[in-house]
Amino acid sequence: MDGEGYRIEKERAVPYTGGRYRWARWGEPADGTSRERSQLPVALEEIFLAGPRGFCAGVERAIEIVEKVLGVYGAPVYVRKEIVHNRHVVETLRAKGAIFVEDLAEVPDGALVIFSAHGVSPAVRDEARARGLRVIDATCPLVTKVHIEAIRYAQDGYTIILVGHEDHDEVIGTTGEAPARIRVISSVEEVAALVVADPAKVAYLTQTTLSVEDTQAVIEALRQRFPGIVGPSRDDICYATQNRQAAVRAVASQVEVVLVLGAANSSNACRLREVAEAAGARAHLIDDPGDIRPEWFSGVRQVGVTAGASTPEFLVRETIEVLKRGGVTTIHEVQVVDEDVRFALPRELTEIPSGSRQDRSRLFSHQ
Ligand code: SF4
Repeated sequence: MDGEGYRIEKERAVPYTGGRYRWARWGEPADGTSRERSQLPVALEEIFLAGPRGFCAGVERAIEIVEKVLGVYGAPVYVRKEIVHNRHVVETLRAKGAIFVEDLAEVPDGALVIFSAHGVSPAVRDEARARGLRVIDATCPLVTKVHIEAIRYAQDGYTIILVGHEDHDEVIGTTGEAPARIRVISSVEEVAALVVADPAKVAYLTQTTLSVEDTQAVIEALRQRFPGIVGPSRDDICYATQNRQAAVRAVASQVEVVLVLGAANSSNACRLREVAEAAGARAHLIDDPGDIRPEWFSGVRQVGVTAGASTPEFLVRETIEVLKRGGVTTIHEVQVVDEDVRFALPRELTEIPSGSRQDRSRLFSHQ
């Protein structure tokens, strides 16, 4: 990313992989123009760029599923909920022919529908089956893992404490696996008020995109209240969430202001902002560089930049361009860990020869 008028210093050099590069370009405006051309009337000097940042393997897989289904079967393709929580991703896929719906009732009988990366409850799967909808599931495998844990604990008679945000799609889906047995909490304060049938038979699970430190505090409080509590070996917070939080923590300790690119309804992006603030920086969650406010940078020389797991990399590059016009001459890439995680596509899609156009009726002919 060497550029005109500034230089890049890698804290730790990590070349883009082929896959990473592909996603770095995904969703970029077709004419290559930046969305934001105005000058930034401030006196910045350095950017500290967090790595890893941006798309995780679950998001890459979910987007690839929608694109592949559109390419193979043609538009329209229905997607239940935002495929991932990012307006730019949703708008790009909508322009290619995806139709996003909140409820299966909006999907015509017999149509093809994709479930989002956040997962769905069994009730949604049952409804799709009853209506004869053809389904491709883009649920992240790491979310599916939590569903399987919930089913196993419920079958073994445990009350399950699910640490997470009860209005988030992922938590709604997981809770649906055993609604009578799952209690959702999000803070240490809620632990004392929990009512369980048998305090000796309690398990915990967590949403995949929580703050690592906050979640550890809740789990510790659960352990004190229920000494025999069981759960995953650590927690269910996924590798991508942990790595992005570690990276923004490293960056936030070196800057005064951190910009987090991500949507307000993206749990992992919101957590990045919180982690940056906990590390001592002032942090702002921005949808794209158009949200940047000059007053955030009064007297500021160093600024950190990161992106949530649903945020396309081109928005990071556009943000850097805006900050360059605010005086930046040096970009430090702060890479705390290398990521090389890829998830396989669903079997229905891997069995299709690449580049071929398929009859929709054949999608599930092997089932
Ligand atoms: S943030 Fe984690 S759990 Fe969510 S889609 Fe990405 S890898 Fe999967």
